[in-house]
Amino acid sequence: MESKGQVANGGLPAGAGSDQIPNAKPQKPLALILFGPPGSGKGTQSKLLLKTLDFPQISTGDMLREHVRRGNAVGTKVEAKMKAGILVKDEVVNRLVEERLAQPNAARGFILDGYPRTRAQAETLCGMLAGRGAEAVVIHLVVDYNEVIARLTGRRQCPVCGTLYNLKFKPSKVPGVCDLEGAALIVRDDDREEVIRERLDAYQNQTKPLIEYFREKGKRLYDVDASSEPPEAVFQKILALIQ
Ligand code: ADP
Repeated sequence: MESKGQVANGGLPAGAGSDQIPNAKPQKPLALILFGPPGSGKGTQSKLLLKTLDFPQISTGDMLREHVRRGNAVGTKVEAKMKAGILVKDEVVNRLVEERLAQPNAARGFILDGYPRTRAQAETLCGMLAGRGAEAVVIHLVVDYNEVIARLTGRRQCPVCGTLYNLKFKPSKVPGVCDLEGAALIVRDDDREEVIRERLDAYQNQTKPLIEYFREKGKRLYDVDASSEPPEAVFQKILALIQ
């Protein structure tokens, strides 16, 4: 059985494997920020990247949904807003991210999916990164508006493993059933059409302006066309940019 223990690569940075020099100087932790509208493929790319980089994916949407599922205090606070496609309070997500970044497996680097989404979140994140000496790379997934609508309205998700499907672009082998878990696929509450519009408005008004903020702060930012090529090709482009 293969061991993937944390000691195995001596705490080396991203992609460090047995072929790396054992005494290589540790690099700064990498904060890979996947940025883009709902439906741009942030979740899909995170899942591809985490396998290669061996970094955790930090998805505020997934974390919030988990709190809602558990029905705890955070979940109760955010549920209605999520169902309506409105952003939840900055202090709630900032705290979740801060706690998550404190966990040991985020020490070498991490993938941020769906965070930051407001100016206040971006400022908090910059403080957290400075405290860790982490380098940020922002990958802006650029997708045509009509394409986003088509992707979101056809989206289905496995409630067990989170795998995303699309009726048109990526159907499951058996309609309505997850290829991996055999579970019945669901439509997320916030993938209904009127909610999709809210989410896109939130992106346009509150999140998209952060591109300018990242530029002002001198962060490495790359636009990646995520409209016309399949996820695997987009993933290869991202890898080439960060390696
Ligand atoms: P998508 O990117 O497709 O809209 P997510 O799963 O990232 O989906 O987010 C779902 C919902 O969770 C959002 O509509 C919002 O209500 C809430 N949410 C997730 N991340 C944040 C965040 N960083 N700030 C505020 N709200 C968030």
